[in-house]
Amino acid sequence: MAQAQRRRNGNIGTGSECKEKELLLLLRERGRSEGQGQGHQQQRWLNRTTSLNNNAKATMATVLAMAMAMLLLFYSSSTSTRITTPSTTGTADEALSISDADADAVINLDHGDPTMFEPFWKNAGDKATVIIPGWHTMSYFSDTSNLCWFLEPDFANQVRRLHRIVGNAVTHAHHIIVGVGSTQLIHALLFALSATDTRHPVSVVSAAPFYSMYPGITDFLKSGLFRWAGDATSFKVNGSSSFIEIVCSPNNPDGTLRRAVLSTEAGKLVHDLAYYWPQYTPMRGPADEDIMLFTVSKATGHAGTRIGWALVRDADIASRMVKFIEMNSIGVSKDSQVRAARILQVISDGYELPDPDSTTSFFHFSRRLLADRWQRLRWAVEESERFSLPQFSSEFCEFTKEHTETYPAFAWLRCDDESIEDCEGFFKSMKVLTRSGRHFGAGSEYIRISMLDRARNFDLFVERIASLGLG
Ligand code: PMP
Repeated sequence: MAQAQRRRNGNIGTGSECKEKELLLLLRERGRSEGQGQGHQQQRWLNRTTSLNNNAKATMATVLAMAMAMLLLFYSSSTSTRITTPSTTGTADEALSISDADADAVINLDHGDPTMFEPFWKNAGDKATVIIPGWHTMSYFSDTSNLCWFLEPDFANQVRRLHRIVGNAVTHAHHIIVGVGSTQLIHALLFALSATDTRHPVSVVSAAPFYSMYPGITDFLKSGLFRWAGDATSFKVNGSSSFIEIVCSPNNPDGTLRRAVLSTEAGKLVHDLAYYWPQYTPMRGPADEDIMLFTVSKATGHAGTRIGWALVRDADIASRMVKFIEMNSIGVSKDSQVRAARILQVISDGYELPDPDSTTSFFHFSRRLLADRWQRLRWAVEESERFSLPQFSSEFCEFTKEHTETYPAFAWLRCDDESIEDCEGFFKSMKVLTRSGRHFGAGSEYIRISMLDRARNFDLFVERIASLGLG
């Protein structure tokens, strides 16, 4: 408590970090003096936020305007990065209008919807705009000479180019298979890696906490070819039976780097590298696995384009995936591939232009936003004295050529307060929707919180957590 009090008194950081924390502190102090309730802390938050009078709202608007100015100062004065915040940041547009409605708003951080990246793409303007004439992309076929006949050649070129620039995966010995998001590619892989001539379904496992969709994707159609077998760490490999282990690295939900936990001799590995991009984690060199999955959803933020790609070394496995996609959707939208190609091209151009200006460096921009969010969340969590977050050490990033920290797309938060039995329920009572650890093969003391939502939602969320620390 004494430590928390010291922090409240202003000893809470240095430089721009300190300014932002001071601003949060001002907001909280303002709220404390106007708070009505004396009862339960959650109720006090509700009372306080709904009882702001006009003066208070005007003051809050001023403070938030200052916060934005400080934030812009913070971005533009940073010497460790080439970026400045585009003029259309969500924070700039949205922070000035926090109202009673915002205070009552339900904040949905359950899904990893990557709308956080919108400001970059707004700023990119025409460069990222695609126009498709009415007579284009009409055929089913993209390139009949390619094993993956529905793969648009330009999309494939841009995939290889971006991996080469970022240095996160080797591509020269791999087939590229495009899918309707990496979700379809996981389905295709489960089919491709299962033996069709056996009466025993192959077991599909992943080390807990695992991505909550893996069990559903595996078992949804009750296939006789494969079945979900849970946590890889407790799976018993039995001589004759085969398995597929999905290795997600950095891991959704907890951001850790992963290796396979089972011996690969009896089983097959799928490396889901959706988050192996520089905004989330330092690049440790190109991944060179037999099967690797990526998606524009998490690489660039274009979840709605529904495009993912698999890098697959083995031609037979790649062919079986293509067969699955033929049966499932007769290929993948060419329009979406054209758009995804342009999006990847804009990112690569931003790094390969002779003198890239600050607002064209997508990964630098995104990493800075995530770093700022993590810093604010960590501070609020510390203030609350009820929760904890995973810690990550800083490492050398081969892409940025500097030591950087890990800023996962999700916060894997633990409720340390023993009076809270169900962490998800606790946050729901504060009108913050999260996903319980139970969906990830973990306990209900954990929740997963998306870090990728729009600025307004994230700001309100941090404010709500910080308010819990008001003793
Ligand atoms: N794998 C992981 C680890 C994910 O987090 C997600 C998206 N949440 C996916 C796959 C699926 O992504 P897509 O939008 O490409 O289907």
